[in-house]
Amino acid sequence: MRYIFDHDFHVHTQLSHCSSNPEQNPTRILQYAKDNNLKTVITTDHYWDERIHSETGSHGIDTSTAISWGPYPQEDGIRMLLGAEADIDINGVLGIDRKTYETFSFITVSSTHMHLNGFTCRGDETLEERIDMFIRRWEIILDTDIPHNRTGISHLTAPHAFPEGDRRELLDHIPTKEFRRLFARSAECGLGIEINTNTFLEDGIILTGDPSLYRPYLLAKEAGCKFYFGSDAHAPADFTNVKRIAESIIDDLDLKESDKFILEGN
Ligand SMILES: [Zn+2]
Ligand SMILES: [Zn+2]
Repeated sequence: MRYIFDHDFHVHTQLSHCSSNPEQNPTRILQYAKDNNLKTVITTDHYWDERIHSETGSHGIDTSTAISWGPYPQEDGIRMLLGAEADIDINGVLGIDRKTYETFSFITVSSTHMHLNGFTCRGDETLEERIDMFIRRWEIILDTDIPHNRTGISHLTAPHAFPEGDRRELLDHIPTKEFRRLFARSAECGLGIEINTNTFLEDGIILTGDPSLYRPYLLAKEAGCKFYFGSDAHAPADFTNVKRIAESIIDDLDLKESDKFILEGN
């Protein structure tokens, strides 16, 4: 059975510093879910657990701010859940641990936020260093003692991984053998693989069909990984193309319902 686009596990609200759009609130997000027949929608603001020390400071909202929206408006047939987008600092510290999971239904971890100079990177890394970072940051998620069945790896093919160059060059340089090893480990622990529709849009151009961006997902599928979709919307205007892009990707990758990451409970 063909994969049904019925959820969005990566939506920002105005609490994210990079949104700050007053219209990006729970009521509007619920309306987006209704308009697109989504059964589950999860807010994932940038988050750093205030209990976890980072030498680079705190980057994102703290726990009390994250839960300040609650309780979420609910509609029959739609689950609206509180999640967060966690990060990893330049020293490899992940801004979330087991305890934090009590607060959230789901966490997406941004392994490819390699554009935040002074926080996640220096900013002058060579392509080789960026490839190493790409792999190392993914391994940190895999090696950490967190419930991987409630965790996703955000936008693996995002432009942030190589902000001063073309992300395709970085992705193409990662050996297939290395992708296979990391996807096999991800499949084994149940880590969800995000397909981030926003990162398939560049200057208004839809990039579905791009072989460099599709290669990792095809290898993930081959390894038995499970996929969820995330819009990464920061404002209501970002909801416009989500369904269209998701449906194209589902067709192109020939995704089935059996390839879907299922978030249990809640
Ligand atoms: Zn992100
Ligand atoms: Zn995001």
